[in-house]
Amino acid sequence: MTLPAPTRAAALARLEAFAPAMGRAYAATRNHDRGPGDRSNVSLLSPHVRHRLVTEEELVAAALARHAPAACAKFVEEVFWRSYWKGWLEQRPSVWTAYRARVAEAVAGLRTEGGLRRAYEDAVSGRTGIACFDSWARELVETGYLHNHTRMWFASIWTFTLRLPWVLGADFTYRHFADGDPASNTLSWRWVAGLHTRGKHYLARAANIAEYTGGRFDPRGELDEHAPPLEEEPPGPALPLPPSDPAPEGEVALLVTEEDCLAETLLLGRARVVAVAAVTCTAARSPLPVGSVPERFAEGAVEDGCARAAAAFGAPAERLERFDAVADWAAASGARTLVTAYAPVGPVAEALDRVEQALAARGIRLLRVRRAWDDAVWPHATRGFFQLKDRIPAILRTFGRAV
Ligand SMILES: Cc1cc2nc3c(=O)[nH]c(=O)nc-3n(C[C@H](O)[C@H](O)[C@H](O)COP(=O)(O)OP(=O)(O)OC[C@H]3O[C@@H](n4cnc5c(N)ncnc54)[C@H](O)[C@@H]3O)c2cc1C
Repeated sequence: MTLPAPTRAAALARLEAFAPAMGRAYAATRNHDRGPGDRSNVSLLSPHVRHRLVTEEELVAAALARHAPAACAKFVEEVFWRSYWKGWLEQRPSVWTAYRARVAEAVAGLRTEGGLRRAYEDAVSGRTGIACFDSWARELVETGYLHNHTRMWFASIWTFTLRLPWVLGADFTYRHFADGDPASNTLSWRWVAGLHTRGKHYLARAANIAEYTGGRFDPRGELDEHAPPLEEEPPGPALPLPPSDPAPEGEVALLVTEEDCLAETLLLGRARVVAVAAVTCTAARSPLPVGSVPERFAEGAVEDGCARAAAAFGAPAERLERFDAVADWAAASGARTLVTAYAPVGPVAEALDRVEQALAARGIRLLRVRRAWDDAVWPHATRGFFQLKDRIPAILRTFGRAV
């Protein structure tokens, strides 16, 4: 299996090709993992949405253009899951901070605890003896993708059968998914563990795996199907969303990051873009090495995004090697404002915080422009997904979609 190329053109081509399958066929077949040789029942677009080579709004619009709202409701709902996780984490940033601290501790533990290290290495290199799990561990590293149902089984077996720390599993998938996302990944692992909806965990069952892999795997007798959910201190209540910056004015430098490679559609008010640059920080996903598939995907995505933005604004483009180089590049552009798409909780937001300080020292301000989609959805992601689900028709109406 090969993912569509990390470009907007490839994303739009896949969107067009998959749109006819976003209706009842998607609802009926999406849970089947037919193996890496047949991904025709899912869009494979998550790496592109995650880097915003294509937007959530465009996915939903494509579905509604081809299907009646009831027919494509499942597909639309899945897209909203992505925005739900984003908004939820944005309002509970301490969950991310705690996760990062736990990953650092657990990685340190791998150096000192021989038993943990051996079990971990068996898991990540596909040597546990559980055939389905071993096959998925290799598939993940080779392709940068796993089917959604398989991600659930994988996280569940890791946590409840292998009894490895869930944060190490989340770190492993975050390092290798081409769509690796702080919110969707961390919070889905928490959901499987029973930490999101407290006390409700997801237990992988052999019969379910046999059914939904079409009999390719049958781990009967190999899984712990009775483990209790994990327990941890619950996170505090939701914090208010950070405010969005105002639209820029005057001459601005524009920075494309791996969070949003569609800068030419940001609302830039009356600003005039005089320079465009692209930068990634994929390596900051983890203290451990990040896979080559996600690294190449992010590289390709920002380069594509930078080239399109430069062409749209008629400005010169530059590829920066590190976030540390951003402030000097912005200063050299002559602009007094640096604009970038709002980066939700995660390594890019953390890198931008550091850039903001370096820019301030040069008298340049940083503006982070948030998309209308995020402003519309995130405020409803304070509790469970089903509170947001009820709001989907009203949200879509504000985007001019009759549902
Ligand atoms: C343990 C675990 C870890 C995950 N980690 C990530 C991650 O790092 N990044 C990521 O983008 N998704 C993650 N997901 C969610 C989901 O598995 C993927 O988004 C989905 O498999 C992507 O494949 P697709 O584009 O072919 O999906 P499709 O079935 O075609 O879905 C269409 C779009 O809807 C969104 N979507 C679908 N299912 C989900 C879901 N359950 N949660 C959130 N959004 C969804 C995606 O943007 C996807 O592109 C994770 C799920 C689990 C259980």
